[in-house]
Amino acid sequence: MASYSLIIDGRNVATTETTDILNPATMELVGKAPVATKADLDAAVAAADRAFQSWSRESDDRRKQACLDMAKVLEDNMGELSRLLTMEQGKPLEGMGSGFELGACMAWAGAQASFELPVKVIEDSEAQRIELHRKPLGVVASITPWNWPLMIAIWHIVPAIRTGNTVVLKPSPYTPLSTLRMVEILNAVLPAGVLNVVSGTDELGQWMTEHDAIKKVVFTGSCGTGKKVMQSAAGNLKRLTLELGGNDAAIVLPDTDVGKMAEKIFGGAFINSGQTCAAIKRLYVHDSIYDEMCATLTKIAEATPVGNGLEQGILMGPIQNKMQYDKVVGLVEDAKANGARILTGGEPMEGPGYFYPLTLVADISDGTRLVDEEQFGPVLPIIRYSDVEEVLERANNSEFGLSGSVWSSDLDKAAELAKRLECGTSWVNVHAAIAPNVPMGGVKSSGMGVEFGEEGLAEYTDIHVISIDKT
Ligand code: NDP
Repeated sequence: MASYSLIIDGRNVATTETTDILNPATMELVGKAPVATKADLDAAVAAADRAFQSWSRESDDRRKQACLDMAKVLEDNMGELSRLLTMEQGKPLEGMGSGFELGACMAWAGAQASFELPVKVIEDSEAQRIELHRKPLGVVASITPWNWPLMIAIWHIVPAIRTGNTVVLKPSPYTPLSTLRMVEILNAVLPAGVLNVVSGTDELGQWMTEHDAIKKVVFTGSCGTGKKVMQSAAGNLKRLTLELGGNDAAIVLPDTDVGKMAEKIFGGAFINSGQTCAAIKRLYVHDSIYDEMCATLTKIAEATPVGNGLEQGILMGPIQNKMQYDKVVGLVEDAKANGARILTGGEPMEGPGYFYPLTLVADISDGTRLVDEEQFGPVLPIIRYSDVEEVLERANNSEFGLSGSVWSSDLDKAAELAKRLECGTSWVNVHAAIAPNVPMGGVKSSGMGVEFGEEGLAEYTDIHVISIDKT
């Protein structure tokens, strides 16, 4: 079995304590993850701080090249990383699984090289010249979740490095191994100390967010933890980017072609077995096409193979961990107790592993936990509506505001409604369609700041104004 270590200052660092990481499909041991001490974290932060002194002064071209080099080594090691990702996270190798995630890692890493944050000349007159520069912040802490461990890590670390910062990354304790290995691989093309990784138990995240030498935290995870991060980052006013959960509504208008759109709606809801922040979590379907949509989605769900992601033909894996599995079971049981109708699934599957079938729940409405809370699993509530204005109000009646979508044969009408959704991104006739050059961020309790594109890059900088009096 491969061994895994922390990466500090370009070197592998072993720890005395380790934790067992189990495959959520088989409950077999995948590997042992190192448990970092406070001293290990301090060493990683000190290494990042030292590396910052030179990395922040490197030319833009050198840092662009580093992004391209990172994309290339990910490509060279794609086979190993995707297999490890499947074993510890559960997602299949095929479909929108590990291969897809690694592909996204490469695309996002490479794309950072194409963005520019040029010096902006605000005024250049006879009297004065005023320029706006962007400066890196220093050591950035990246704290990542277990649903898309590698892709989200790349989303955090590559723009940070591109803008001249250095990084200490902490993966989720559920899925640390693939991240540890990925950082080891990336270190082959980066100067020592630019990218460090520490894994560990619960105190580690708190230590990082409180650490005085860390200047920014980029965090993806739950809303509750995001609020804690914000509190403990206040000590030295760390910059924050928080990408917290969502409860995305999709509104299907009566003129929607169900046959044409159902596959896309299914994909938008069940991507990564629903364990995706910007997945469809509430599907509002007009009364006139409700039964047809329920029947079509049921057919698609029942034809989608769920199982061990290492096996050929599997398109959906297990739920990643017991905490999330219990949450999903609890939400479906609550829906049943409140009179909802299970169209397919609805009972845990046999065998080892946290398998839950793709589940569609009809005759359910707002006010039920499955609709009001983020399920983050393979379960979709389908809610009937008859009045468009009223359904818009219900869609917006949520503490979350990550994204949403409107579905219709009339693109202009759908776009008008999409503009009235209270969220960071509204899609028309598609959902969760993200791209490296399109900024994405949540409103309300779904977070603050944005990722991707030049706007995302700017989040890893402070502005610095140079004002020259020419008189
Ligand atoms: P958390 O938000 O608790 O964990 C995400 C990351 O934050 C982990 O690396 C975790 O590591 C770390 N963390 C936890 N507490 C702190 C803290 N006080 N300071 C700094 N870092 C901390 O998510 P969970 O894994 O517990 O999942 C809970 C729910 O979050 C899910 O049910 C789902 O609804 C949602 N979620 C949303 C995601 C998204 O993409 N937006 C991704 C994953 C989950 P550690 O536990 O070691 O501290």
